Amino acid sequence: MICKKCKNPGTIVLRKKDNYCEECFTASMNHKFRACIGKNKILSSNEKVLVCLSGGTGSSVLLNLIFDGISVDSHKKLRIKVCFLHVLMDAADDNTLNQAQKIMDQCRKRNFNVHVTHISEYMKPSSELLESYCLPSKNLKLEQEFSNFINKMPSTISNDLYPKIKRSLFIRYAKLLNCNLVFTAETTTTLASNLLSNLALGRGSQVQNDVGLCDTRDDTVTIVRPMRDISKEELDHYLNIKQLEVPHYDKTKQNSLQSVINTFVINLQESFPATISTVCKTADKISAIDEVQTKETCIMCQSNVGTEKTTLTAFDATNFSRTISNSELLDGGSSNHLHFTENNINKSMFPFIYKHLCFSCSRNYSEMKHTLPNHVQNLLKDK
Ligand SMILES: [Zn+2]
Ligand SMILES: [Zn+2]
Repeated sequence: MICKKCKNPGTIVLRKKDNYCEECFTASMNHKFRACIGKNKILSSNEKVLVCLSGGTGSSVLLNLIFDGISVDSHKKLRIKVCFLHVLMDAADDNTLNQAQKIMDQCRKRNFNVHVTHISEYMKPSSELLESYCLPSKNLKLEQEFSNFINKMPSTISNDLYPKIKRSLFIRYAKLLNCNLVFTAETTTTLASNLLSNLALGRGSQVQNDVGLCDTRDDTVTIVRPMRDISKEELDHYLNIKQLEVPHYDKTKQNSLQSVINTFVINLQESFPATISTVCKTADKISAIDEVQTKETCIMCQSNVGTEKTTLTAFDATNFSRTISNSELLDGGSSNHLHFTENNINKSMFPFIYKHLCFSCSRNYSEMKHTLPNHVQNLLKDK
């Protein structure tokens, strides 16, 4: 095999047809990462960035790309100040603590500071910043509260909710650390399945922020996805070449819409290597149509809550079928009166819709057995 760049012998095959040597492959990974953050002048010199590490494959590669970028001593040097955050997903599980230790080791080796927090902090209205390299002390009550909240809902909903919870913690800690930028490590493969899941869950209008390069929903903190042009296949080669350890493999809860879509995308990519890039390129073209946007944002996902439209929407369709399935047919079997006027839209099936919650969060809310954390629930009352 011959490297398509330098014509030396190549050992890496991408998309079943493109051969590279290790050197050209590593250079192209660095280039993809740098090109992504070079776009749109996201970074100013010496910008302070909070990098969020799950410990998964993407996060291990991101950590190394940043390290290499900062370490080079040339005009190509990456001029940012970085600190790192890891969110413990379950402190009761020894495995999670081991993973956190491994992530701390990864950072220590590279002389980076890493802060650790626990996902159950979401239940609290605010958090304190722990010293770097400190594991949060056990808070059984809070952890129990969180697991009651998240485990008592269908897996599709908790899969949808987890990234939103993590996002709000990333933003909270970015503010504590005075960072206006956050890096997360989603690859193009993850983003392709997230895009399709978003569409299926009625979050089409949120695609730009959820899947695009930047999430600008927060006023002060922007989340950037600098790995969005790198595929899972490329990650695996990079990990192999650099001999990087991966502390943790991300799992999507099975028997959920997201796990089905994920398998679908990965299997399709196997036979049609252009699948993922095509899906992601399509995503770039989808941008929210500039209609009259309300100022209200959803208290769960910070997206625009949207407004009722004159044209039929997913809300009308779902609401219509719920109304039909839940009510006796009016007028002895005639459905003539099931017109959609303001009055017979049953908003109780879509609590707080268009007011405090967007369509999908409202539907999620209606399927939650435990209410939201108090500080979030209070926002529903106050506004
Ligand atoms: Zn080469
Ligand atoms: Zn929402």
